[in-house]
Amino acid sequence: MSLRIGSGVDYHQLVQGRDLWIGGVKIEHNKGALGHSDADVLLHAICDSLLGGACLGDIGTHFPDTSAEYKNIDSKILLKKTSELIIAAGYQIINIDSTICLQEPKINKYITQMREQIAEILFIPTNDISIKATTTEKMGFVGREEGIVAYATVLLESI
Ligand SMILES: [Zn+2]
Repeated sequence: MSLRIGSGVDYHQLVQGRDLWIGGVKIEHNKGALGHSDADVLLHAICDSLLGGACLGDIGTHFPDTSAEYKNIDSKILLKKTSELIIAAGYQIINIDSTICLQEPKINKYITQMREQIAEILFIPTNDISIKATTTEKMGFVGREEGIVAYATVLLESI
């Protein structure tokens, strides 16, 4: 059995007039993430961790933000397409761990729903997907509520 680790990080600005999608779940908030797609920071970090583990480049390579095809696209579709790429390359997911950094709003109540959503897309058990959330204690751009960050780490095994 061959094991491979992958890591991903993603950033988006928070602005008024946009919806806030995190982990495939719409979060009630007065700001949303700015981006070409729906700007789901957690799903993008997970996509990059999967591609990284399989040494398949990054999300920008496969789904360029200059392409009209991906304008305002639901990032759940990008995650599905990414999982198909890593399966085609001969990998399956053992587990995912991730952290979302944002100051406001509190998102703990959404985490179970995010894990279920991601599990459904990736066809893996909910228990193999960990999502944590932290503030930055009001420091930096996250603390000033200017942006949001997500980190993801994945363990893959070759099938
Ligand atoms: Zn992104």
